[in-house]
Amino acid sequence: MEAIVVGAGIGGLAATLSLRRAGCEVTLVERAPRFTEIGTGIQLAPDATRVLRRLGLLDAVAAQATRPSHVEFRTWSDGRAICRYVLGDEVEREFGAPYLQVHRADLHRVLTAAVPPRSVRLDTCVVGIDQDDGSARVTTAAGERLRADLVVAADGVRSAARRWLFGTDEAVFSKTAAYRALLPAGEVADLGLPEYGVWLGPGRHFVHYRVRRGELLNVVAVFTTEEAQESWTARANRGSSCASSPAGTPACSMFWSVRAGCTATASTHVCRWRGGTSGG
Ligand SMILES: Cc1cc2nc3c(=O)[nH]c(=O)nc-3n(C[C@H](O)[C@H](O)[C@H](O)COP(=O)(O)OP(=O)(O)OC[C@H]3O[C@@H](n4cnc5c(N)ncnc54)[C@H](O)[C@@H]3O)c2cc1C
Repeated sequence: MEAIVVGAGIGGLAATLSLRRAGCEVTLVERAPRFTEIGTGIQLAPDATRVLRRLGLLDAVAAQATRPSHVEFRTWSDGRAICRYVLGDEVEREFGAPYLQVHRADLHRVLTAAVPPRSVRLDTCVVGIDQDDGSARVTTAAGERLRADLVVAADGVRSAARRWLFGTDEAVFSKTAAYRALLPAGEVADLGLPEYGVWLGPGRHFVHYRVRRGELLNVVAVFTTEEAQESWTARANRGSSCASSPAGTPACSMFWSVRAGCTATASTHVCRWRGGTSGG
């Protein structure tokens, strides 16, 4: 059986590898001209790491990731502990696979390396999908028509393929956005942050955890906003004004530093992400 997978994100790469394992001949089509290091941290719960194990890639991903022993929820204003959940061995015992935190680029790189280059077509934007009783077809921006027995649309949360096939299905803006940043972990070691922390405040929360073998601290500062801008890569304005004044916890000061771009080093970008969901 021949398949075309549209989109070489995490989903498209995983689908390609799974289809190949099932004996399909797969062409993976991606509009980006090359794979670059984009994104920040991603959390992989056992349902995801179990799939990576099945694909034979769990060890390679785990070697780049961190495996938190617990998560601590604290109050934003005074740092009081709200609750604590054990992860680490306990999650692995209960769900049969680990809970990992990884840089999206590291996960993407491991998945990409497992797909034979001859199966990947970069710089190929899909502009249409159609089918008849015998086959499915993909039309590219260059006017090519690719044919297969099966087309898998893995073109992300703003999927055009979903719109072509099933009509309009607009995501609803939750009125939350997030500032995301990666900081060298050594530069903020003096803050004494928990290994994996979630700081809860009115209309905002702050999540941090380590990625890239613990070398980078991934921070996600989620807040409510009316301003809708959908992007994984938009840059935050440095020194943007604050809606209210910070309290005295390390998370608060870091939230504000991240927001103002002050914590950013030369190699650090602060990104603004508007999401349909809030999280980290
Ligand atoms: C640049 C980027 C950065 C991200 N950063 C983070 C992050 O830091 N933290 C986090 O938790 N999640 C992040 N995400 C989201 C996360 O990777 C996905 O939501 C999740 O992994 C689901 O993956 P997906 O494969 O469904 O979609 P995605 O990872 O969004 O991948 C979709 C792919 O389809 C391609 N594509 C779209 N339309 C077409 C088309 N017409 N023709 C050909 N190719 C097409 C896109 O270029 C993209 O490579 C990011 C996504 C992207 C694209």
